[in-house]
Amino acid sequence: AAPLVVARSTAIAANRGLLIRDRASFENARNLKLVVYDKTGTLTEGRFGITEIITENGFEENEVLMYASSLESLSEHPIAQGIVDEANNRNITYYDPQEFESITGKGLEGMVRGKRVRVVSPGFMKENGITFHEEMYQTLSRQGKTVVFVLIDNQLAAMIALADQIRETAKRAISRLKEMGIESMMLTGDNRQVAHWVAEQLQMNQVIAEVLPHEKADVIKKTKTEHRQIAMTGDGVNDAPALANADLGIAIGAGTDVAMETADVVLVRNNPEDVVSIIDLLRKTYRKMV
Ligand code: ADP
Ligand code: MG
Repeated sequence: AAPLVVARSTAIAANRGLLIRDRASFENARNLKLVVYDKTGTLTEGRFGITEIITENGFEENEVLMYASSLESLSEHPIAQGIVDEANNRNITYYDPQEFESITGKGLEGMVRGKRVRVVSPGFMKENGITFHEEMYQTLSRQGKTVVFVLIDNQLAAMIALADQIRETAKRAISRLKEMGIESMMLTGDNRQVAHWVAEQLQMNQVIAEVLPHEKADVIKKTKTEHRQIAMTGDGVNDAPALANADLGIAIGAGTDVAMETADVVLVRNNPEDVVSIIDLLRKTYRKMV
């Protein structure tokens, strides 16, 4: 009867937009004790809007936006979309950058109209000993805003704060999993304060922030033990290795191709509550199988 039960559940799930790609998922959901979530685009909408631009060293807002959006126009990160949207709203023309490079997990770099431009994370600033208005940065971060810095020819031109929105469905998903005895952990590349702010709103059990893309998989490996099955949920390219290393890798929403190819389960909709639905369905099916 087992193959039939599996086939039927797989079909029922597919009708609800829950695609089971690996049959081992039924077994791997059985003893789940923890679900790990990427933050941006998974727990949050992944749509950033600029809330503040704090210029420095005589630069002007629109000038900074021109340089920043020129670089960001080549990036697929949600931060990039937020910056480009603002430039578009203000009718700012941006240009194709030269020597464009992404600094993994830390930002972007390139030449725009003869100037070396970088849009980078607070971590990059600290590592390179570039000073900025620390108090202002702390205040913005504590409000849950993601802050990036624009450097033009090695000079700090501006601090840009962007806000994303927490999904209501994320809150419900986390509390329903808790009722099922499953804890939650956030794993994000974003800074500590923002991560903690979001985790607090969602009443999550654990937070690991400021992780580089390749470190996400290491965290999963370390957290996983024989007695503690864990699931990982994410949408980004940088989540793929972590999805591969979890007992149950769940790609969510219109995620990147890499994430979807790597995951054991793909959730078609952008709804964290589907994480609960799929775990519940996998477990119920497993019980019928044995
Ligand atoms: P997440 O886990 O939230 O998806 P990422 O690893 O993609 O985080 O990014 C980590 C950090 O690197 C961001 O919070 C940001 O500070 C910086 N960063 C990444 N991509 C960009 C970009 N296109 N523009 C500016 N900053 C970026
Ligand atoms: Mg993400």
